[in-house]
Amino acid sequence: MSIVKAVRGVRDLLPPETDLWNRIESTARNVFERYCFGEIRTPIFEETQLFARGVGEETDIVSKEMYTFTPAGDEGGGQSLTLRPENTAGVVRAYIEHRLANSGQLQKLYYIGPQFRRERPQRGRYRQFFQIGAEVIGPPGSGSESPVRDAEVLEMLASLLSELGIRGWTLLLNSVGSSSERPAYVARLREALTPVAGQLCANCQRRAVTNPLRVLDCKTPQDQPIIDGLPRIWDSLDPSSKAHFNAVRAALEACGVPYEHDHRLVRGLDYYTRTTFEFVQRNAAAGEGELGAQNALLGGGRYDGLSEAIGGPRAPGIGFAIGEDRLVLALAAQSRAEVRLADAYIAPLGEALNAPSLALARELRASGLRVELGDGSFRLKKSMETANKLARAVVILGEDELASAMLTVKSFATGEQTKVSRNLRELTAVLAGNLQS
Ligand code: AMP
Repeated sequence: MSIVKAVRGVRDLLPPETDLWNRIESTARNVFERYCFGEIRTPIFEETQLFARGVGEETDIVSKEMYTFTPAGDEGGGQSLTLRPENTAGVVRAYIEHRLANSGQLQKLYYIGPQFRRERPQRGRYRQFFQIGAEVIGPPGSGSESPVRDAEVLEMLASLLSELGIRGWTLLLNSVGSSSERPAYVARLREALTPVAGQLCANCQRRAVTNPLRVLDCKTPQDQPIIDGLPRIWDSLDPSSKAHFNAVRAALEACGVPYEHDHRLVRGLDYYTRTTFEFVQRNAAAGEGELGAQNALLGGGRYDGLSEAIGGPRAPGIGFAIGEDRLVLALAAQSRAEVRLADAYIAPLGEALNAPSLALARELRASGLRVELGDGSFRLKKSMETANKLARAVVILGEDELASAMLTVKSFATGEQTKVSRNLRELTAVLAGNLQS
C-alpha cells in the first residue's frame, strides 16, 4: 500500500524547529503585552462573503486562492464557507459582532494562527502558513485615525524584530490615500498603461485591465523601467492624506525608526487606505536575504473603511500580519551564518604534548568552557590557522610551557599574547575575560 503523505504546500513542524516557533511566539506575546494588546482567537473558517466583501473580489486571494467549500446537509443549507486566508477581516467581524465599539475606546487585539491560501508552493510560501498579527481599531473619536497610531505600530514592529534578533530589515512605507482619492489615481494609471501595457509581462497585461494598482507590484525585471515611469499615487493624494503621511514620518523620525518611502507599495488587499507598509529582508550578507523572492517578512496598513464594507459602523484601524514561517527561515539562516566559536583551542606543540593537552582540555571543559583540542602533529602555523577559525583564543602547550607550567595564551579578538600560569582558576579567568572583549 502506498504511504499517505502530507498534502502539497503544507508541512509538519518537528522538534527542534518547534523550539524556535515557540520562542518567536513568546517574544511576540511579551512585546504585545508591553504595548497593552490583548489576544483574540477567531474561527479558522468564516462565511465566504466576509472575505469577498472585506478583502475584495478582484484580489488574487479572493479570485483564485481561497479554500471554499459548502458543507452538505448543513442547517441553513448551501452556505459557502472559506478557510481564512488572512485574519484582519475576521477580527473586524468580531469587533462588529461583539459591539466592541460600545466602550468608545481603542481596541488593541493580536492573534497568532494558521491561514490558508492556494498559492504555488515554494520556499517561504506555503498553503497553510502562520501569521502573527495585530489590529488597532476604534470608533471615531477614539483616536484610531491618528497618525501616531500608525507610527506606534511601526515602532512596536521594529522593537519586536530587534528582540527576535532579525537583522538587515528595511521598512518600506507608502500612502495609498483614501477610498475617495483612489479612483482618480486608478483612472490616471489606466490611461498611462494603455499605450505601454502591450510591452509588459502577461500578468501585468491582465492586471492592467482587472486591477491596475497591482501592476505596481510586478517583479519582472524587464517591466521595471516602464513601471517606474507610471504616475505616482502621491501626486493624486489630497492634502489631508499627505499631512497624515507626513505626520507618520515625523513620528518615526522622532523615535529613530528608519524607513524608505516606496511609491510603488500598494499591497494586494483592497481594504487598505492611507498608510501601507512592509518589512523586507534583502541583504545577501550573513544569512540575511535567505528568503529570496519571498523577502517580505510582514505587511500591513490602515483600513479605515473595512468595517463599513462588511456592514459595520465606521471604525478606522491599522494592523499588520507577520509571516511566522518566514521569521523562522530568516532566524535559522542567521544562526547558521553565525559560527559559534569555541572559548579556547589548545595547541599541543609535538606529539608528546597530546596527552597533557587532553588533560588540560578536560579540566577547562569541566569548568564550563567550550574547548577544541588540536593535534601535536600539526606545525605551529597550521595550529594557529585552525585555532583562528574555530576559537576566540589559542592556548599553546609546548615543552617549555610544560616544564615551566606557564602557558602561552593568544586572544584573536585583541591579538594580545600573554603568559598564564597553568592554574585552572587563572586560566579560566583569562579565557572568560577574553569572551567579554
Ligand atoms: P498578507 O496577508 O498577504 O499581507 O501577508 C502578510 C505576510 O504574511 C507576508 O509578508 C508574508 O510574510 C506572510 N505570507 C503571506 N502569504 C504567505 C504564504 N503563502 N506562505 C508563507 N507566508 C506568507
